[in-house]
Amino acid sequence: AKRMRLDKLLSNMGFGSRSEVKIAVKQGRVTVDGVRAKDSGMQLDPEKADVVIDGERVVYQDVIYVMLNKPQGVVSATEDTRDRTVIDLLADTDRVLKPFPVGRLDKDTEGLLLITNDGALAHDLLSPKKHVPKTYEANVLGDVGEEDIRAFAEGVALDDGYVTMPAQLRIDGREEREDGIYCRITLTIHEGKFHQVKRMFESVGKKVVYLRRVAMGPLQLDESLPLGDYRPLTEDELHALF
Ligand code: URA
Repeated sequence: AKRMRLDKLLSNMGFGSRSEVKIAVKQGRVTVDGVRAKDSGMQLDPEKADVVIDGERVVYQDVIYVMLNKPQGVVSATEDTRDRTVIDLLADTDRVLKPFPVGRLDKDTEGLLLITNDGALAHDLLSPKKHVPKTYEANVLGDVGEEDIRAFAEGVALDDGYVTMPAQLRIDGREEREDGIYCRITLTIHEGKFHQVKRMFESVGKKVVYLRRVAMGPLQLDESLPLGDYRPLTEDELHALF
């Protein structure tokens, strides 16, 4: 059985700071198994105890699965001495669960990032053997064409000699500007080498100037999420993952 202090349970589940929930207990607004709690430091089993505050039942959650629309300028790490991290974008009540990003997006890459404290799921999604597809939209400096589609479908050699697995490239738009031709593309890869998308385009003499991830495995970026915002995965999304 798990043991936890009542005030810790309440504050971790988002019912206020430690001192606020202590006051709530003192004011008699909290019941445990139908009995008014007197001591905010009382120990209980957070999975079994029936805790109610101001008439609202406290549901204990120790797992977290959220989808973040990562903005540029934050790093996909849990801690960093210089930069803001994706974990810094979460509310305190979510951060107490010690979540971490599943995989990495570059500092200047936007889009879908799964954040969880489920190490087994993260391991599964990142396992090189599973070839979980990841889809990116990019803006590329250079005239992307049929030969690039064929090259990516066969595999291209990166700067370190690694030959990529077959990837699906689609050209979504083409625009001539003063400094060159830019193409909007969608690319699905089935592995996750360091800076892979940028390096694949470098290998064909082109440059990614904007990149965002729109899908990872069964998860699709929720386009209604503003950059920097996040939301819990839905039941359907969780089902698709497990
Ligand atoms: N490929 C990249 O080059 N950068 C990312 O952030 C993700 C994939």
